[in-house]
Amino acid sequence: MEKRATTALVSDFDGTITDDDFFNYVSRRYLGEDALAPWREYLAGNLTHFEALREIFSSLRIDRKEFDDFIRGIPVDKTFFRAAAYCRGQGMPVYICSAGCDYYINRLIGKEIAALGIQPVTNRGVYNPSTGLTMTPPPSDSPFFDPATGISKAAVVRRLQRQGYEVVYCGDGLPDLPAAEIADVVFARKTLLERCRLLHIKAGELQNFDQVYLFFKGEENENNSPVNACPATD
Ligand SMILES: [Mg+2]
Repeated sequence: MEKRATTALVSDFDGTITDDDFFNYVSRRYLGEDALAPWREYLAGNLTHFEALREIFSSLRIDRKEFDDFIRGIPVDKTFFRAAAYCRGQGMPVYICSAGCDYYINRLIGKEIAALGIQPVTNRGVYNPSTGLTMTPPPSDSPFFDPATGISKAAVVRRLQRQGYEVVYCGDGLPDLPAAEIADVVFARKTLLERCRLLHIKAGELQNFDQVYLFFKGEENENNSPVNACPATD
């Protein structure tokens, strides 16, 4: 059965709609291995996700045009737009929730976000070649504020569920886990998929968004069902 307006799609951006995290792309091209020290500190529990990204991003010193051209060269999974267009046709809300920032998301897919009525929830990013990419979280009274990541993806999922939506969540990393734990349907890659398997959260392995599109159309592969049999409730 085709999914209707009572279903919402919430997706991570880095590593889910793109292949890899933006900090990895910029580090490989401009910063080198040493610049990833804050990320290692995050993984060791000594920095928050937000602090680690803010430190890496603030070390960028690239001409603005070169930076913007570099961003626009990052490959995007175009099948996401097919799934989002289907949702728009069915009146289903689509959110992109990113613990990264809007500077590169807008340069990569800002036109599609506007054209498809996608709702972005992310940190603000401002680039200046002398101060780097500066990330600012939403105000602390925002319903989606989270001190560790800037934005809470789980808060977005929870609000949609309270509004009566069944939420399909797509992601790849640790900041996606609290959202995946409560989502009704999960498609996951990489670290998130490993964690879901470890925690017995039912998740389909996300290769691209055609799987999500087929799921919405009621044509999902039963052997790779993403339906979370027992989503946590709050
Ligand atoms: Mg990600």
